[in-house]
Amino acid sequence: MLVDTGPRIQKQQLKKVFSAWNVQQVALTHSHEDHTGMASWIAKHKNADIFCHERMVKAAARKAHLPWYRELFIGPRFGFSAQAYPNVLQTSKHQFLPIETPGHTTDHICLFEPDKGWLFTGGSVCYSLSQSIYERRIDIRLYSIHTEIKQIGLSNDFLWTCRNDNEWKRNDAS
Ligand SMILES: [Zn+2]
Repeated sequence: MLVDTGPRIQKQQLKKVFSAWNVQQVALTHSHEDHTGMASWIAKHKNADIFCHERMVKAAARKAHLPWYRELFIGPRFGFSAQAYPNVLQTSKHQFLPIETPGHTTDHICLFEPDKGWLFTGGSVCYSLSQSIYERRIDIRLYSIHTEIKQIGLSNDFLWTCRNDNEWKRNDAS
């Protein structure tokens, strides 16, 4: 399972990676083009189911209207066929719970793997958890999950965010 596809601007590099991978499912965290730009390529070249928030399904089928500077620096987001998340996303080894986490966008989903304690936060947590909550990028339910992850002794290594979050680890590792 692939979580988010990366931007179209990196098509040349990403298509080599995706061609080599056995991608059967794509889990999109939200509609932004840096997370979905290669979804149309995957829809065309891989036999994979693409999942997204139900609010995003209709818009995903059309090319996104982006400000010119975003299309220039991140690349376009062409239309692709996607389906709404089921209650549980099952792979051969894991199950992932899609959790609705509006804030960063209204169509945002985080993916939680309860057995491993993995949390894929998409665009919700970009630097510090407390700052992200303050800016309403994430809602408090995500904070609860993260607290529980820490309580059962798992580290922030189990947190998969959209960036290399050393700052996150410094600020919120306590
Ligand atoms: Zn985003």
